[in-house]
Amino acid sequence: MLAASYIREGKLVAFPTETVYGLGANALDPDAVVKIFEMKERPAFDPLIIHIADIDDLKPLINSNDERIYKLAKKFWPGPLTMVLPKSNLVPDIVTSGLPTVGIRMPSNNIALELIWAAQRPIAAPSANKFGRVSPTTAQHVKKQLPNVDYILDGGPTTVGIESTIIQLTKNGFNILRNGVIVREDIEQVLPYFPGDNKDADVIAPGMVKSHYSPSKPLYIIGETNKVIEKSKAGLLSYSLQQVAGYKEVIQVSTNQNLKEYAVNLFAALHQLEDSDVDYIVAEPVPESGIGTAIMDRLRKAAYRFTY
Ligand code: AMP
Ligand code: MG
Repeated sequence: MLAASYIREGKLVAFPTETVYGLGANALDPDAVVKIFEMKERPAFDPLIIHIADIDDLKPLINSNDERIYKLAKKFWPGPLTMVLPKSNLVPDIVTSGLPTVGIRMPSNNIALELIWAAQRPIAAPSANKFGRVSPTTAQHVKKQLPNVDYILDGGPTTVGIESTIIQLTKNGFNILRNGVIVREDIEQVLPYFPGDNKDADVIAPGMVKSHYSPSKPLYIIGETNKVIEKSKAGLLSYSLQQVAGYKEVIQVSTNQNLKEYAVNLFAALHQLEDSDVDYIVAEPVPESGIGTAIMDRLRKAAYRFTY
């Protein structure tokens, strides 16, 4: 596999995961990892997630034998759950932005798994977009933002559509650092939600910036903005298909108000509207429970720089 030899040679490969497309490099090679930060224009304080293809790949990367890790892995891997764990010395500091912890997950996309297997290396990969911008869910989205990437594996549109849920283990349970389609209630089937007893609470902040996923055009959330909307100039991300009249463009992000499907389609809809001739984007809020929490989190971060 050519892409795998590229990884071994220290080059960058964009590849599909079930969440979004990743920009991957050999996680154990600091010179390769630095290229990710350069290409994305990502600040060095924002740590990367390492992707593995086999549970046996986990042990060398972490400095912990907490049984809860393997319980969670058994239930949710391969899949969109990232665990932030104490790192071993094998993991270069550049990957973790100098933190003593590392984010790790096993993706469920077959092309991603094959790439990691064939490369025989863990792969550090953030989303394959410029820092702070809309995440890619197709190979075309990657090409638009990162035309100089060494190789793009095209696996078609991703099937989850938003980034992984990130958790950290606490003394008595777990804490959620980023919401995703694996929701708190899912994880509670394995461990109690117990965010309060995390002594590392201060160091988990990096990367959890207020502005993110931001389209090149202003985005406003209905009910969360003072902007007077001129519908004839705006593109609407519709959830309910109510009050769609008058907009220049309307995208029904999901049929039948299905939040899972909304998550799958959200970033593609943002890409479509940023490439269309509307002046700005308006989003109808979705119910804020279950996957809706992760969706509203993405929408608010995307709207942040136009709101404040
Ligand atoms: P992404 O850009 O989707 O690959 O996600 C990377 C995000 O994972 C970062 O912005 C952090 O919020 C989070 N993350 C990765 N590693 C760590 C870590 N060691 N500690 C806390 N958060 C982390
Ligand atoms: Mg990202």
